[in-house]
Amino acid sequence: MSAPARGPLPRPDYRELSPYAPDRRPVEIDLSDNTNLWGTHPDALAVIRGADTDALARYPSLYADALRQAVARRHGVKVDQVTTGCGSDDVLDSLWRSLAEYGGTVTHVAPTFSMVEPLSRMNGREARPVAWSRALADPETLFEGDPLMVYLCRPNNPTGLQAPSEWVERVLEIAGDDGPVVLIDEAYADFATDAWIPRVTRYPRALAVRTLSKAYGLAGLRVGYGVGSASLIAEIEKSRGPYKVSRLAEAAAVAALDDRGGWVERTVHECVENRARLRAALDDRGTPAPPSSANFVLLPVEAGRAVPTVHALREFEVGARPFPDCPDVGDAIRVTVGPWPMMERFLAAWDTVRTGESR
Ligand SMILES: *Cc1c(COP(=O)(O)O)cnc(C)c1O
Repeated sequence: MSAPARGPLPRPDYRELSPYAPDRRPVEIDLSDNTNLWGTHPDALAVIRGADTDALARYPSLYADALRQAVARRHGVKVDQVTTGCGSDDVLDSLWRSLAEYGGTVTHVAPTFSMVEPLSRMNGREARPVAWSRALADPETLFEGDPLMVYLCRPNNPTGLQAPSEWVERVLEIAGDDGPVVLIDEAYADFATDAWIPRVTRYPRALAVRTLSKAYGLAGLRVGYGVGSASLIAEIEKSRGPYKVSRLAEAAAVAALDDRGGWVERTVHECVENRARLRAALDDRGTPAPPSSANFVLLPVEAGRAVPTVHALREFEVGARPFPDCPDVGDAIRVTVGPWPMMERFLAAWDTVRTGESR
């Protein structure tokens, strides 16, 4: 038996927590993390190249008001309905911390974004997964055990599933005006239609969250934002605190959100076209991927084969993300959609790997 822990460390609920460690070894064609494979926003890059001394020497704005204004312009909402953060993970973290003092559960659909479980734990909340099939069949199941919050991801990572809007509406209705907070993670909404920003502002306890890490090509800058009712946003801003978005990141993000040259629009359009083309190519090979509303597809593989398949693809300098034993799905690999020559490299590797697999 180990000796009882003494002093403040380790925090008991952190004992099982380990650092985020996906396989990030460099690979020629990296289709593993859903960043924008067309590159970055040229207007954002121009802002950074033109930076002056103040951009580094002085503190940023307290609550990133210029960025809040740019978000308000982009979505037709009010500035006091917008919160921002160092990546959308930070917006989620601020929300988690703004909820009840300690304890409680966060219900989330499963499979979903891999940060939800650790973020819950880091904030002393218990994460409770509900399989998508169950949640879609009966949204009441998301509310069992009286959670503090319900996390939905739409379109969902890693499945690409876009839950029907009427279903989301039903979830919001059950939550009511003073029930659990409903978080709608819209990290991939740029690649879909029928988003919940701006209509989410009609619900006092709902927040829709976006990131500039995917469609906007700014993952390295770390910028995300949330849109919701002014009363909810005011609480999140308290736990966010000042100076969360750097000066350079704020200025570059504003330029990207304004999207004057239409770079986001163009690359998103091409991505959506290539997604259909990739799915058709996979259909032709007899290895179909289910429909996706995001910038990736989830490709089912045989039981136990997710990790070995990703390793085999790596031999061809192609990176993908393995999802072993997912609820509703089984083993699968997630492949980011990029410019067509990259998709050709993936398909060539896939042809060899899957033939090798079936032997
Ligand atoms: C990639 C991703 C994010 C982005 O997180 P950032 O911290 O903004 O980079 C958020 N939610 C989901 C579901 C994602 O897949």
